[in-house]
Amino acid sequence: MAFTIKSPEEIAVLREGGRRLAHVVAKVARNTVPGATTVELNALSEKLILEMGDQPSFLGYTPRGAKRPFPAAICISINDEVVHGIPNENARVIEEGDIIGLDCGITHKGLITDHAITVIAGTGDAKAEQLVRKTKEALMAGIRAAIGGAKVGDIGAAVEAVGKKHGYGIVFELGGHGVGHRVHEEPYIPNMGVQGEGITLIPGLVIAIEPMFTEGTPRVKLMPDGYTFVTKDGSRAAHFEHTIAITEGEPEILTVEI
Ligand code: MG
Ligand code: MG
Repeated sequence: MAFTIKSPEEIAVLREGGRRLAHVVAKVARNTVPGATTVELNALSEKLILEMGDQPSFLGYTPRGAKRPFPAAICISINDEVVHGIPNENARVIEEGDIIGLDCGITHKGLITDHAITVIAGTGDAKAEQLVRKTKEALMAGIRAAIGGAKVGDIGAAVEAVGKKHGYGIVFELGGHGVGHRVHEEPYIPNMGVQGEGITLIPGLVIAIEPMFTEGTPRVKLMPDGYTFVTKDGSRAAHFEHTIAITEGEPEILTVEI
């Protein structure tokens, strides 16, 4: 399996990049209020990243299978949009109660971290609040399972258990990934799995874990823009993501503000 193990020096760079990225995402989240536009939020994220001397990793990046580079610094995905919403081409005004996924990546000293949170603009309904809370809980459960020597399947099983317990659609067509030198590296980290199966999590492996839950079907479809994934049944979705470093014991979350 072709994945890279990061050195302690590289992980130190990723730690600083992750800290900066968490700061950017938190600041954009504070500005994700009713009346704000996705165009403004994209401009804000790009400005914050460039001000720190870093690069927005998603801008100009062409993932495998895509026909053109991604045109923005951040993905903004609202309500039935699961991930990869384009904020600047598909300009939208944020409305009260919208469920908004903010997914961003930065390149700091040549190394990439990837981080997403979901917020509710203004006041959301109780179901939206729970969807967001439980998707975040699933991310943390996945991270807790990612101890050195465990298997990739342990992560998926932990994420899946939280989704199943609450009856959510667990998006399985998309998932987490190795990250660092490129936005997407091996190995793939599914959001479903069987404990004890899959490759072994080796210290120095850096991965993004990113559960996506929906209020309905787990199935997604790609919109004609080539990037935005929406739920097939129009149900609402939430998405959380951290970049973590595998260690001998508990993993280190890199995408946190210190
Ligand atoms: Mg991401
Ligand atoms: Mg990712």
